[in-house]
Amino acid sequence: MPSPAPAPRRIAVSAPQFQGNEWKYVQECLESTWVSSIGRFIPLFEGQFAAYCEVEYAVATNNGTSALHLALLGMGVGPGDEVIVPTLTFVATANAVTYCGAKPVFVDSEPRTMNLDPVRLEAAITTRTKGILAVHLYGHPADMDAIAEVAKRHGLFVVEDAAEAHGALYKGRKVGGLADAGTFSFFGNKIITTGEGGMVTLRDAERMARIRLYRGQGMQQDRRYWFPVVGYNYRMTNIQAALGLAQLEQIARYTEHHRRVAGWYAEQLGPVGEALRLPVEEAWARHAYWLYTVVLGPGVAVERDAVMAGLAEVGIETRPVFYPMHVMEPYYEGRGRYPVAERLSERGISLPTHVGLTEEDVRYIAGQLRRLCGL
Ligand SMILES: *Cc1c(COP(=O)(O)O)cnc(C)c1O
Repeated sequence: MPSPAPAPRRIAVSAPQFQGNEWKYVQECLESTWVSSIGRFIPLFEGQFAAYCEVEYAVATNNGTSALHLALLGMGVGPGDEVIVPTLTFVATANAVTYCGAKPVFVDSEPRTMNLDPVRLEAAITTRTKGILAVHLYGHPADMDAIAEVAKRHGLFVVEDAAEAHGALYKGRKVGGLADAGTFSFFGNKIITTGEGGMVTLRDAERMARIRLYRGQGMQQDRRYWFPVVGYNYRMTNIQAALGLAQLEQIARYTEHHRRVAGWYAEQLGPVGEALRLPVEEAWARHAYWLYTVVLGPGVAVERDAVMAGLAEVGIETRPVFYPMHVMEPYYEGRGRYPVAERLSERGISLPTHVGLTEEDVRYIAGQLRRLCGL
């Protein structure tokens, strides 16, 4: 009998890892029966996450989308308001504005970091504009000082969607603590995970109280079953928080590994020059490299989707860059208005980036990518 062919290589774009206290803490939840949204891990996780982000308060939620919704409610966003968001983002950023009865107003990206272009902010402001929701896309912080400068001039709030940027730094300061509020996601493919989960980070006690009120069905803190507002059930469970606390204990190893993987990619792909636009790390930034995202240059004749299909054939999972919001039905504005975002969306590929990748994996991925692009 011939020996079986070796198992084909399978490299996932993201992969969570549970090598710390996850098992012990979750077991404690089960043994104590504190499995719902009361239990010691929730305030522990909130407290330690607030400390990690260098803010006073953190409010744990059932996912990153509800964290965004709550942060906007905390800022007082309501019907008739407008909130500026980058068109190139995950849909949850825009939807959270819509959930408030407000309208997301889009701006184009700047090509280097793929983030909201602060130069284009002014033109998007109207008398209804209430705030700016900046996104640290793929882990690179948005230019928060430039954004804050415009916001201050027009009396707008600023919220950071840091769902993809745990541990990233802007001028030496942690994301999530750079504006009026920050939000995070702990979905299974994020830098740390609680399965599903999210967090709002902020410094203002009054807004924090409002966010907690809306998170817990709107029930008044000192009066059971009294609901002064229509709230939501956006609570995190003790089990999620148990996972989150254990993941947070290991976050330095995760963030360092993401940067190490990025370094390996840069080494392997650097020599191809302008053919592939590699992620930029601005002098003022520490990139979290949630996903190492490259953009095919004009010199690459192959379509992006063909490159992705070719990579899939050799066992490498990748992700296309998001579609910009303005080309999809709920937010349709036609094509052409935001050309930078459209080009990044058509030509961008996120490569596998996670704590389980080895240098050998990255060499294999980079080699296959170069072959498919003819580089
Ligand atoms: C993942 C993500 C979210 C939403 O997080 P969920 O936990 O999946 O609800 C929001 N914004 C961005 C930019 C994201 O990548």
